[in-house]
Amino acid sequence: MAEKMIAVVNYAPEKGSVEVREMGVPAFGDDDVLLQVENVGVCGSDLHQWTADHSWPVNYPVVLGHEFGGHIAKRGKNVKNWQEGDRVVSETAAIINPDSPMTRAGFYNLDPDRKGFGYGVNGAMTKFVRVPARCLHNVPANLSFQQACLTEPCCVAYNAVLGNASIRPGDRVVVLGPGTIGILCAAMARLCGAQVAIVGLEADKARLAVAAQYGCETIVGDATNWARARDGMGADTVVDAAGISATLKIALDLVRPKGQIIKVGWGPQPLQFSLDPLVQKNVTLQGSFSHNWPIWEKVIGLLSTGQLDVKPIIGGVWGLEDWHTAFEKMHRGEIVKSVLKP
Ligand SMILES: [Zn+2]
Repeated sequence: MAEKMIAVVNYAPEKGSVEVREMGVPAFGDDDVLLQVENVGVCGSDLHQWTADHSWPVNYPVVLGHEFGGHIAKRGKNVKNWQEGDRVVSETAAIINPDSPMTRAGFYNLDPDRKGFGYGVNGAMTKFVRVPARCLHNVPANLSFQQACLTEPCCVAYNAVLGNASIRPGDRVVVLGPGTIGILCAAMARLCGAQVAIVGLEADKARLAVAAQYGCETIVGDATNWARARDGMGADTVVDAAGISATLKIALDLVRPKGQIIKVGWGPQPLQFSLDPLVQKNVTLQGSFSHNWPIWEKVIGLLSTGQLDVKPIIGGVWGLEDWHTAFEKMHRGEIVKSVLKP
């Protein structure tokens, strides 16, 4: 095994503090595996750490990347259920408190002590990453790593649409924001049998064209007419995947009385509007964060059977040295998702 490897490192809180560094192959514990990364997706949160407009604590310097899959290169001595060479993807909760009441209930994704790859501990934009064996899921032979590495954002969308929303065939669903999560939420709502529209800005044309491949309507600007087209009341469900606070007001306008809003996009800005429409319309406002073990198993099933195809959202594959091009193209909205190949 090579002694040295290169990694895409976020080394300081200042804007633009990302570079390729050489580092040693990581040590790993008895309950861990050393995972050889085959592909790693670039997440919007990697971009936010690069442009320094993120709202979570980062353990600098840290290797970026939490959407990844690869082969098990080595395993710790307590790891019994996995073999060297196994094809796997990894969940994101690298550190959790096993005694937390949330962990004990199976919701370790909501454990306040949770620390994830790419911000809390070293992530996967490199050749080898240390992964606790409890994070691993088997990748069937027919599922390529380019697709399997995107299991994680699919799990975010699955939890938002199937875990935290209640969507039935024939429902009208509006998704705000045509990023990876928005498009995958739209795809999940289509799988539920809903009629779906995804909403973006003029600058989102390229990403909306990708969204259209998932069988949803695409709307630039105001979605009021689409939301009210059936009976004048509004959409059954609005998924806010935009990543700014202001879109919650749009969601409140578009949702029908007794409907639901699922907020999966973050936004550090305070709200400058009244939530009275939430009360008046008797609307459910539901947050959705991350995912847990059973969701990963379901999503791998969807990907390996082709019920969910992530190929349309992959805008290209770059080597680690070309991380800047991969980040920039995604940042400009030219493509939905960049994938790196260490
Ligand atoms: Zn992500």
